[in-house]
Amino acid sequence: MINIFKCNHFKSLVFFQVKSYSKSVNSNLNFLLETMPKEHKHIAEAQKQRQRIKEKLAKYVPGRITLQVLGTGAQGAPRSLYVFSDQSRYLFNCGEGTQRLAHEHKMKLAKLEHIFVTQRTWRNIGGLPGTALTIQDVGVPQITLHGPKGLEELFTATKRFVILRDLKIEMADCSANNVFEDNVMTVHYVPIVKTYVDENVVIEYDTVKQGNNGPPSLMVNTAVDLNKAVQAEYELAEVGTSTRSEKSHHRNRRGSRSCSPSIPKTEEVEDNIDYYAHEHNRQRNNYSDKFADMTRLAFLKDTKDEGMCYICKLQPRPGALSLDKCVKYGVPSGPLLGKLKMGQDITLPSGVVVKSKDVCEPDDPGPIFLVVDCPSEDYLDSFVNNPAFKNHQATATKNEDLAYLVVHFTPQHVMDSPRYREWVDRFSPSTHHLVLNESNTCMGSISVHRVQHKLNMLNSTIFPLLGDKGSRIDGEEIGEAPSMKRMKTDDDSKTNVSDIIENNSSVDSQLQLLSVQPKSIYPNDSFTYANTFCNFHLRPRKGLDRSSELTLTPKQYVEETMCEEGFPQILKDLQYLLKDKTRELKIRPYPRLLFLGTGSCIPNKTRNTSGILLEASEHTNILIDCGEGTYGQIIRFFGPEKADLVLANIKGIFISHLHADHHIGLIGLLQGRRRALDKLNRSNFHPVLLLAPKQILAWLNFYDKYFESICKEFELIPNADLVHDEQTLFEGTKVRVYLTLEMSEICTTYVRHCPNAFGIAFTHKSGYKICYSGDTMPSENLINVGLNCDLLIHEATMEDELEQEAVTKMHSTTSQAIEVGRNMSARHILLTHFSQRYAKIPRFNDNFGDNIGIAFDNMQIRLDELPLVPLLYPALKLMFAEHYEELETKAVKRQLKLDKQESLNLDVSKSEYQDILKERPSGKRSSSPITAAYGSNRSGSAKFPNTRDSSPHNSRSSVKDRSPNRSWLGSRSSSPPSSKDGSISNRNLTNNNRSQLGSQNPASSSNKR
Ligand SMILES: [Zn+2]
Ligand SMILES: [Zn+2]
Repeated sequence: MINIFKCNHFKSLVFFQVKSYSKSVNSNLNFLLETMPKEHKHIAEAQKQRQRIKEKLAKYVPGRITLQVLGTGAQGAPRSLYVFSDQSRYLFNCGEGTQRLAHEHKMKLAKLEHIFVTQRTWRNIGGLPGTALTIQDVGVPQITLHGPKGLEELFTATKRFVILRDLKIEMADCSANNVFEDNVMTVHYVPIVKTYVDENVVIEYDTVKQGNNGPPSLMVNTAVDLNKAVQAEYELAEVGTSTRSEKSHHRNRRGSRSCSPSIPKTEEVEDNIDYYAHEHNRQRNNYSDKFADMTRLAFLKDTKDEGMCYICKLQPRPGALSLDKCVKYGVPSGPLLGKLKMGQDITLPSGVVVKSKDVCEPDDPGPIFLVVDCPSEDYLDSFVNNPAFKNHQATATKNEDLAYLVVHFTPQHVMDSPRYREWVDRFSPSTHHLVLNESNTCMGSISVHRVQHKLNMLNSTIFPLLGDKGSRIDGEEIGEAPSMKRMKTDDDSKTNVSDIIENNSSVDSQLQLLSVQPKSIYPNDSFTYANTFCNFHLRPRKGLDRSSELTLTPKQYVEETMCEEGFPQILKDLQYLLKDKTRELKIRPYPRLLFLGTGSCIPNKTRNTSGILLEASEHTNILIDCGEGTYGQIIRFFGPEKADLVLANIKGIFISHLHADHHIGLIGLLQGRRRALDKLNRSNFHPVLLLAPKQILAWLNFYDKYFESICKEFELIPNADLVHDEQTLFEGTKVRVYLTLEMSEICTTYVRHCPNAFGIAFTHKSGYKICYSGDTMPSENLINVGLNCDLLIHEATMEDELEQEAVTKMHSTTSQAIEVGRNMSARHILLTHFSQRYAKIPRFNDNFGDNIGIAFDNMQIRLDELPLVPLLYPALKLMFAEHYEELETKAVKRQLKLDKQESLNLDVSKSEYQDILKERPSGKRSSSPITAAYGSNRSGSAKFPNTRDSSPHNSRSSVKDRSPNRSWLGSRSSSPPSSKDGSISNRNLTNNNRSQLGSQNPASSSNKR
């Protein structure tokens, strides 16, 4: 019988079993399909196809090139500017949240190959790791970064949790004399530097030596200092290795002091862990390249303050062929026309020579646009004196050299400085100015508002309207930045001038006029402060176009819900129910929870990645996990002013594990908190307590050292030091942590996910207890730590029918999460971390009791309001009816696909199947091992799988070698596997690699038999 589990037999057999198109899926088969190496193949194929298209288009200069604002730079929103032609995409800066916006607005990242960055700061690069992962997945083979030196080291630092196997990151040589050129444009690099006097760094402007195009150079007193730096790095490295020694290990275990903000630079923490080992089966990366890079890193430190501006010129485009003129010259249709169009002169059969220029429109020399960022006053010297810009200001000698557009990433306070103003005034009045900085207010998303407006109808306390009022609302003009008027089209006299230039690029006399015009003739409001989807058409030269800018239509969001059949009535009923229930409850203002991100893996337009704000009291907030864009979520929910208080009150942050979707937003959050503290004059406030796997220091220290200083913003309390029953944190530190966070107990525990993955339970001094799972398969440890809690927040990544996928990815299904909650006697359970396939609403289970809720982004709920949540379900189902049906349809389609797959395999294995039939004791389907193991009815009701009482597990044990075990978690009364009964313990799991899980866990289920 063992033989029949070989692949083909297995599939063909199933074909005969699963015939009904029920929602149920044979999970074992599903596992098999899931684990086929299709992912990689799909990327390789996509890459090949790209290459073919690219080669075809390489020589063609596109006729339509537009610049588009994606992230406006508003507080909490990314800064990102898109330049696109019909064949390629360029991104200028990539702040946190860029990929989320790109996803919502369906911008094709597949054509993106070049990213230009103005400075190595988080607001410009925070979105790079996430964007890189996404573009890898769509088959982009290589991405080239342009910007200050050392930019690519971001990926060195994040390689533990941003795994780029199919995407190559190249760094362009962006020295001042270099240019980037392709068939769309030519880009000149203009490095700018900070002018401060450091004892080791001397900055010299040597414009004579460099001629007109060069920027000032940064001269480092090289030889000696560099060696010193390298030496220092090596010494650091030595210290780093010694952390593994007994002594320092001891120190690390004894207290967080070893990692306190004053020390992290000497206490290097190595992180050689592959956090995604369970998701890929290819060989592990060799991460021991750390010390080879020391020379490189020494340079990196010295270039920390370098900035980069760009002068971009579109490729000239030959004028279009005039068919009228061709007819006049007697050119026959056919290949000759093509030659003329390509600029070649031809000879007609009659012997007459026709010159290309005689039958073509004048060439378009290619407009110029500048992308500039002067990050602070310290850069002004280097910036305003830079000769590279002069060629494109009013002093330009040629019409075509005048800048058509300048995009300013410069912060507002620098833009307001007289020297910057004066620099702007040097441009021709025909030059447009577009601003992407924190003065903008548009955060770029429609979907978030749309969903919130709908949910708000159900309950305005739990789903309040968002505090972000920065986007335009249908028919209203609101949220404009202080100086949001655009000069050009409003002012006729000037429009004429620019029109003349735009429409007739050879009118030199007009230009002469321009270049002698007095400066500062135009008013101060000559800047366009952009909203998302503000467009600027570079070719054809149609200029600014605000017609597609993002606009919210709240009325429509409400109407489309009310139109749903039966919804008004169900809403009415709900209001009564809620009123009644609320009367029964005694609702305290705190604790209050705000869900900032409830999706897994990749941020989706309606669900961001993990983040929960626990407001323990009026003055004490704790952030639980911090995915990309968490800072922005806080701003959006509370609105910029209120958000500052919320941020300032964050006293603790818990990071459950080091997957990017749980911690990549940390730097942005810490910087945002600092900004808020400064604004509120609370600058001396204590650094935030960072409860995290201590390996996070490897990343944070690296960033601190080579990018921006952030280490003084936090004090690390290693999660391992707070583990239930074996806390090793210094008593003094512990008391301080508890006091600061207002808790009487904080316990972490290892959970079953990736190495160093933790769950946590907070017990407040007032008595309530909240437990959070992080990412995990059902975990006995978590049950212990969360016992009798008031609320369990548990991940429920997969629906029940994808149980096998949940095992593969080491997550929980809905039913498993609920079962864990029941086993720990949690009073309430909130489910979160939904796979993005359930973006709007996950599939409900019939076993949802009245104490089970699902979390939404921007759901704010007091602990005492939790009994209200289950009342919302009927209305929610109806509200998202379309989506809900879609999910159901998908489940059916999955089934159909499986069946189709089977029929394809049928021919091959028909005879084998017949052999199997012969071997079987009876021809009855139900006795087949497959059906027996998974039951013929695993739909809807989704009974929690119990490994002990389902007899078929006898037979299933024969497949165990190939498939990881399904859930082992039985009811609490019986004994779930622990180290006692042969199963790998959770603790072991985190300390050993995953291969043990694959083999040992299934073994445990058979052991139990
Ligand atoms: Zn996750
Ligand atoms: Zn994870």
